[in-house]
Amino acid sequence: MKVLVLNCGSSSLKYQFLDMENEEVLAKGLVERIGFEGSCLTHKRPNADKYYVETPMENHEVAVKLVMDALMDSEHGVIKDVSEIYAVGHRVVHGGSKFADSVVVDEDVKASIRECFDLGPLHNPANLMGIEACEAAMPGVPNVAVFDTAFGMGMSEEAFLYAVPYEYYEKYQLRRYGFHGTSHKYVSGRTIEFGELPEGHRKVIVCHLGNGASISASIDGKCVETSMGLTPLEGLVMGTRSGNVDPAVVQFIAHHENMNVDEVLNVLNKKSGVLGISGISNDFRDIEMAEAEGNARAKMANDVFHHSVIKTIGGYAAIMNGVDAIAFTAGVGENGPETRERVCASLGYLGVEIDKEKNKVRGVERLISTEDSKVKVFIIPTNEELAIARETLALVK
Ligand code: ADP
Repeated sequence: MKVLVLNCGSSSLKYQFLDMENEEVLAKGLVERIGFEGSCLTHKRPNADKYYVETPMENHEVAVKLVMDALMDSEHGVIKDVSEIYAVGHRVVHGGSKFADSVVVDEDVKASIRECFDLGPLHNPANLMGIEACEAAMPGVPNVAVFDTAFGMGMSEEAFLYAVPYEYYEKYQLRRYGFHGTSHKYVSGRTIEFGELPEGHRKVIVCHLGNGASISASIDGKCVETSMGLTPLEGLVMGTRSGNVDPAVVQFIAHHENMNVDEVLNVLNKKSGVLGISGISNDFRDIEMAEAEGNARAKMANDVFHHSVIKTIGGYAAIMNGVDAIAFTAGVGENGPETRERVCASLGYLGVEIDKEKNKVRGVERLISTEDSKVKVFIIPTNEELAIARETLALVK
């Protein structure tokens, strides 16, 4: 059974095609500049040359057709016929308070995704376009929506409610949702499995540290806290996002820089974080390099980032009244031994002790704490596409 996984942005489309018999990736690729001049597709198979096509693609439907052509191409393809596509799994960013789980798409589900445009204005319209493009291009093939917000729906009221007038929650579902849910669910589950955490000892903190960064706390795989909120702006300091600020900062910047609220939010989303502090880059590798060369603002940016991670882990350990395991994942979490070491150095009070030698790796699944460490610490590479494919198969099988 082969499953296609799609992650649609407003002008892009990422895909993976997996054989779920052995969970092997048969092909993956990226379509860029949909609806613009110079639209192109890059298609890759393991151990084979890239296949690159540049052709006009006015919309997502044309892009999906091109992906199918690539999958069925006589030279670069991996299947002969559309009937070999068992189902399509779609990453959908915002499920509002309607979806605590993945769901097979029907007209009602599409209407609900549309209702969430307000909550996920940058992503949901593109996600829905991807679904409708697949319906048109592959009639009869089931589509499954896997929501980034689903994992956060496990939080209870004391964690998800903002302390603003309750009627806003009732009228608009204004609440904390959390994002990166597919990753947090996969990594927390995998931490329990890989770490062989016994029942009653499954308090897990997952640090998803990439350009976008978030932390979750879960017990037995059920989310009890996660750092992003109504939108992905809340929580940790990130590549370009500020993370938590006093909301009065918005008013202050608006007055002093003569901006409206939307413009300030744009600054907080795109020009802040380690980019904003360092003035150098949103890429953590650039920040680390600049810090190593003695750049003071790069050091400050990195310090503020680490401070926000350490503070959040401490808060979540308190909320759960303890922690059994901490897992690092995503770009920096998987590939940044310095970050892991610096964060864990401040967690000695929890009984965290990292093995510096074991920690000197990038991108591998492993235990990096010492035998004596009270809390197990892991690197668990995330795999959102595989998680989406698994959820998809489970629902349509
Ligand atoms: P996103 O999906 O949010 O764009 P990723 O999870 O791909 O983010 O993470 C991207 C970040 O990971 C970049 O800032 C990059 O610098 C960082 N990264 C990737 N490889 C390394 C590495 N070897 N060392 C430190 N940081 C790394």
